[in-house]
Amino acid sequence: MSEFCPILWPEEPTPENLKNCSECGLDKHGSRMVWGEGNQDAPIIIILDNPGAREDREGNPFVCGTRQTLQKAANEVGFTMNDLYVTFILKRKPVRAYDKEHARETCMIHLKQQLEEKQPRLILCFGNVAVQSFFDNPEAEVKSLRGTIHEIKGYPTVVGYHPLAVRRRPNLWSVFLEDWKVAAEYYHTKSCTL
Ligand code: SF4
Repeated sequence: MSEFCPILWPEEPTPENLKNCSECGLDKHGSRMVWGEGNQDAPIIIILDNPGAREDREGNPFVCGTRQTLQKAANEVGFTMNDLYVTFILKRKPVRAYDKEHARETCMIHLKQQLEEKQPRLILCFGNVAVQSFFDNPEAEVKSLRGTIHEIKGYPTVVGYHPLAVRRRPNLWSVFLEDWKVAAEYYHTKSCTL
């Protein structure tokens, strides 16, 4: 396989009517909104808990560790960057204590609308926070749900550890890759275009 170089995914602009969304109160945290990134029409949607920075302290664009890890795994199982779109349970990164349940429930409305518009063929949901929110189950855990396909809100869904956890614990890399392989096998053999 050719040497892989992570890229800064293009950002999808936040819809005009939601740019100033303040429904959950996270607008007061000062972090900027990231609606989603990657190919806006991609057949596969990755769901994470919240966006990481896309710019360093000086404002220069950079590819953070989460995005590097995602892209490396995607590349290893044969997905192209064009196959992927990334979005978040919360469109803003919280920077201090907040009402988690309220914020996740509120912002989930936006995610549901995104999915209805985009109609992905497959969803990859990474990390316990994203899984618990997307599965509507506060007890849901990656370790017991990973390794297979789930039908959630009408979408085939694969679960995996959060890329940051994978970076912190390198022994999770092979487990992470297994889940990407489950996704790739399903995508290439069972998912179909509508
Ligand atoms: S995180 Fe979601 S609900 Fe909260 S202000 Fe941002 S878009 Fe609105």
